[in-house]
Amino acid sequence: MDNILRTKEKGNLIVISGPSGAGKGTIISKLKEINNNIWVSISMTSRPVRSNDVPNETYFFVSKEEFEERINKGIFLEYAEYNGNYYGTPKDKILDKLNNGIDVILEIEIQGALKVKKLIPDAIFIFIMPPSLGELRNRLVKRGTDSADKIISRFKTSYKEINEVTKYNYVVVNDEVDKAVAKVNAILISERCRVDRIEDIYLSNLEEELHEFLVDKDFSNMDRNM
Ligand code: 5GP
Repeated sequence: MDNILRTKEKGNLIVISGPSGAGKGTIISKLKEINNNIWVSISMTSRPVRSNDVPNETYFFVSKEEFEERINKGIFLEYAEYNGNYYGTPKDKILDKLNNGIDVILEIEIQGALKVKKLIPDAIFIFIMPPSLGELRNRLVKRGTDSADKIISRFKTSYKEINEVTKYNYVVVNDEVDKAVAKVNAILISERCRVDRIEDIYLSNLEEELHEFLVDKDFSNMDRNM
């Protein structure tokens, strides 16, 4: 049977931000387990490799000079300086994935997200919020990957970032990770159902066919049974 709707097959560009310690990384890796129609962009950074990083998986690591060369070559969709290091989204694979119907996820900080908003206003912006400042502090300390000074500086940055939530379309509080993952996935599913994704509605001559079908039937007993 013919489908009644033809909708855009393109994937959505989804930007996920939130303060460090909000749990974006965990949410995204769990999301990949339940949604096989997403592709998570790998960013490039000039920050030092941490013990839990996997080069070319968590990031492409380059020196500051190499990063600046790439800025000049125009390889980034967006880039920003954050806590003294460069971070940027290579643009090469993104369009291809979107054209193949795959949702592309960018896990980036707020300055970069705002640049993407200017370039691609119909991207979807999700902010991951920690349940409380106390919990955020605990998570930053427990991570154990940074020095005390770094933790304090990250906490201060996170504190400021929380006020930027109003620039996003959705907010998900990460109090329980599985619930937060389910919420992000629900947003992705709902965005696929938006009316503005409809390209065509096929109403053909089914009404006539239905009429012909009904006149052949004997409805003489229908009133009595109603
Ligand atoms: P971290 O050093 O903890 O891995 O990341 C620090 C911040 O940089 C996080 O908020 C992360 O979302 C952000 N980030 C990671 N990749 C990119 C990127 O490509 N562009 C921008 N603008 N921010 C990024």
